[in-house]
Amino acid sequence: MNKTCEQVWEKCLNIIRDIVEWQPFKTWFEPIKAVQLENNVLTIQVPSQFFYEYLEEHYVGLLGKTIKRELGKEARLEYRIVVENGTPHQHPKTVNMPTQFTKHQKDSEVDFPLTIQNPVKNPFVIPGIKRVQIDSQLNHNYTFESFIEGDCNRVARRAGKTVSDKPGGTSFNPLVIYGGVGLGKTHLAQAIGNEVKRQSPNKAVLYVSAEKFINQFIDHSKNNIINDFIHFYQLIDVLIVDDIQFFARAEKSQDAFFAIFNHIHQSGKQLILTSDKPPKDLDGLQERLLSRFRWGLSADMQIPDFETRMEILEMKMRNDGLEMPKEVVKYVAYNIQSNVRELEGALISLLAQSSLNRKDIDLELAKRVLKSFVKTSSKEITIESIQKMVCEYFDVPYDKLLQKTRKREIVQARQITMYLAKSFTKNSLKTIGEHFGGRDHTTVIHSCQTVKDLMDTDNSFRDSVIELQQKVQLAAM
Ligand code: ADP
Ligand code: MG
Repeated sequence: MNKTCEQVWEKCLNIIRDIVEWQPFKTWFEPIKAVQLENNVLTIQVPSQFFYEYLEEHYVGLLGKTIKRELGKEARLEYRIVVENGTPHQHPKTVNMPTQFTKHQKDSEVDFPLTIQNPVKNPFVIPGIKRVQIDSQLNHNYTFESFIEGDCNRVARRAGKTVSDKPGGTSFNPLVIYGGVGLGKTHLAQAIGNEVKRQSPNKAVLYVSAEKFINQFIDHSKNNIINDFIHFYQLIDVLIVDDIQFFARAEKSQDAFFAIFNHIHQSGKQLILTSDKPPKDLDGLQERLLSRFRWGLSADMQIPDFETRMEILEMKMRNDGLEMPKEVVKYVAYNIQSNVRELEGALISLLAQSSLNRKDIDLELAKRVLKSFVKTSSKEITIESIQKMVCEYFDVPYDKLLQKTRKREIVQARQITMYLAKSFTKNSLKTIGEHFGGRDHTTVIHSCQTVKDLMDTDNSFRDSVIELQQKVQLAAM
């Protein structure tokens, strides 16, 4: 039997829901309607041009891959954009638009597992590589101009500026930027790289996340070409390694990084590192690395105060050519206090809602949209709090829960924790996996399935899970 477009889209949504975080899923995917499936072309209707552009910019890869997974390699995607709302007697006016995905994507890129970001190009494959040819992997939007200074980041920003004017030539080497999520560490680290490139295009700058570094290292150690790997990194003039907390427990990668660090530092080249905690609290990192981090400067990033939040919002609006009443900007800046990423998320949701309803942004709309951002009175359950409860319940040490041990009690405790995290939090499978020592989303799917199966067959197991479910529910009240 042929599937209808609604059925196909529903299946796609099920996949997307597990990959995209809850808030963007609600904002960008729920308003989409599947309207046609013909000759393997799935047409989806989106509420406005703005939606179309946003989806194309941020989610086209994900959409394309998911649709191909459901309909096969030949599948194509098309958009229908609503340009005028309908009435009860009349269909809305629409126009069809193509997508870039099917044009640019080669079949080899359609492989799963899905990732939302484009894979960083493997920088090692260019034979006879010259330093200037190294693709810096920088995002060119992350500049100093677009990075607002406030009390929260003044030291880090100024140190960054100093370093970018004289890479390797100051005592800020390494420069370690640390602080919580969404506070601008990646932005600032990349701004330094972009500024070095602007002043000296011939310098070899490389941005890499520690996660990527570890994966590359694993690839290369399998093929016994670790020396190539280390030599490549030793060519770099300014090496930016993001989120070094991921090095925890990756012993072999730390050894490689140690060798690279020493070489770069000794040759008067610059290292810039970011971390989600102060270096001294980085458990699982070798002491010899930590002591080298102390050679340079560690600068922290804090949550921006109200004035800085206002300035950031106003700059983002200016850059995107947006306007909204001052009272709304104030309302957003006042209510979103957690971090800059959420601030941006709130602004984008506001825009999406205003374009969805064809309504100017006003205070009333802002209040409605921000409701889902501003914490309500009931407590939010986090993956960490569930991990803690399960550890206490089974008397399992927290670090064991994250490590790769195969002991049965621990494996079961871990699977139950993932299962509870999936049912009680709005995190994607990907995020949940990341909280368990960087496992991927398929492990989480497998764990949830195992727990469901065991609950059907093993009574005492079921009782434990139910008791834990009640504990989590209580904690949320
Ligand atoms: P982190 O790496 O600390 O998690 P990011 O660098 O990814 O945070 O920042 C999250 C978002 O907030 C990015 O889009 C970034 O451009 C923006 N941002 C953070 N700090 C500032 C700032 N001071 N001025 C302007 N934008 C900022
Ligand atoms: Mg970051």
